[in-house]
Amino acid sequence: MQGLMQNQQLLISSMVEFAARYHGTTEVVSRRVEGDIHRYTWADVCQRSKQLAQALDALGLAHGARVASIAWNGYRHLEMYYGVSGSGRVLHTINPRLHFEQVAWIVNHAEDEVLCFDLSFLPLVQAVHSHCPTVKQWVALCDADKLPADSGIPGLISYEAWIAGHDGRYHWPQFDENTASSLCYTSGTTGNPKGALYSHRSSTLHAYAAALPDSMGLSARDAVLPVVPMFHVNAWGIPYTAAQIGAKLVLPGPALDGKSLYELMEAEGVTFAAGVPTIWQMLLSHVQPQQLRFSSLKRTVIGGAACPPAMIAAFEDGLGVQVLHAWGMTETSPLGAVCTFKSGQMALPKEEQRKISAKQGRAIYGVEMKIVGGDGRAQPWDGKTYGDLLVRGPWILQQYYKGESPLIVDEAGLGWLPTGDVATIDADGFMQITDRSKDVIKSGGEWISSIDIENIAMGHPAVAMAACVGMPHPKWDERPIVVVATKPGASVSREALLDFYAGKLAKWQIPDDVVFVDAIPLGATGKMLKTRLREVLVGYQLP
Ligand code: ADP
Repeated sequence: MQGLMQNQQLLISSMVEFAARYHGTTEVVSRRVEGDIHRYTWADVCQRSKQLAQALDALGLAHGARVASIAWNGYRHLEMYYGVSGSGRVLHTINPRLHFEQVAWIVNHAEDEVLCFDLSFLPLVQAVHSHCPTVKQWVALCDADKLPADSGIPGLISYEAWIAGHDGRYHWPQFDENTASSLCYTSGTTGNPKGALYSHRSSTLHAYAAALPDSMGLSARDAVLPVVPMFHVNAWGIPYTAAQIGAKLVLPGPALDGKSLYELMEAEGVTFAAGVPTIWQMLLSHVQPQQLRFSSLKRTVIGGAACPPAMIAAFEDGLGVQVLHAWGMTETSPLGAVCTFKSGQMALPKEEQRKISAKQGRAIYGVEMKIVGGDGRAQPWDGKTYGDLLVRGPWILQQYYKGESPLIVDEAGLGWLPTGDVATIDADGFMQITDRSKDVIKSGGEWISSIDIENIAMGHPAVAMAACVGMPHPKWDERPIVVVATKPGASVSREALLDFYAGKLAKWQIPDDVVFVDAIPLGATGKMLKTRLREVLVGYQLP
């Protein structure tokens, strides 16, 4: 027997319609590439998204056609989130930090037909455009009078002139909620990038889940600043969640340095911010020396890479800002786990709570998790036993775009996505990542967690960033070393840093050596790039 409730499809257009109808005067504030601040409302976002949808119709673009963006977090990019997906096309967000050959590769793989870009990326577009035969319209996300006259890009138009020709009187089309809505490629540190193709249904459900009190806990009373880029996993879904709940949205544009972010947060009354640890490190380096305070910021979600306990302490004890540690990946939309306490944990002593906060958190409803051993068998949830982390759920990838299904099918016939992460899960369901499987260090048959080693080094006052890698060893197979970049003006000796590990790890887990570098190489999403680090260390000998 079928239920008798309305079978309304979950479509991305309904989120911006909701925001415009019920939160039409709530602001969306952006720092523009030009440096100035632009402000308008959710009603304006909806109106201009419809103008964009009409412009795409006028181009004769088919349902399902790919429209690409190479852009910072800003209001025009937000309009693309709604105008492109809402009209039934697929928004392909491109990471501009990729090498230009990779950018051309993914434009061709996605067969993008329109490509819109911020003017800061003009040199990148100039380098790739002649290698992208599928693109029939290039659009600069700028005012008509800012359009460069001699860009060398055939038929280049300005976004403002393009959408100005349309009046926004438009009815969003209705279609199956499983229709593709957006496309994001993994950074492809090994091999070619792979496309995660999200649907209207997956994006809507993910946005619902993200707002829950035990996930990001967002509401219409929040002012939300996604520092995480809109070209990376849809800025963790925040542009959708903010519309669903009618929060004020603050978009930082290209100014991601600590000073600019701090000033924007203060000026706009930001209550909630989201980003990777390297971004927050820059913010702390600006705030701490001057003993600045946040007047409105209450919570920050930190994920994408392990958040060192020292960073959690700096925010919570030093600045009164709650840290929510979260885990996810491009293939999981990305939210998989968020670290929020259960009620019994509220009464624990602070040190115990800190140990929990260092974990990546527990699954939110909609994400099932398990850890398995080499034989594929589920491992116990005892907080100690390691295993490969597998996940499944309605916003978890089933198959790569034009690619394979990476799923592992269990004895019940259910498909699980292998995450490539190694983790433990404790009896309360809190998951802790110990490593990416390719970074695991195996010493004398035992695994050593590189994240533990990094977290301890990052707790030393002189250390700005630390990366742990395994080095081949004749007796133990591998031994860990820690590569360290110190804070400006600070120093620590090799011996003092190794002494700092005493009592914090078992002796055999303490790294064999410290290598000092000026900077740890970062990848396209601001995470430590261990592949590059290993190249830097070629020829290195353990002591
Ligand atoms: P890429 O970095 O390859 O572009 P993703 O952004 O999808 O792709 O990265 C996902 C990976 O980032 C996860 O598989 C995991 O290894 C790592 N990661 C994400 N969040 C955390 C976290 N809180 N702690 C540790 N690692 C994390």
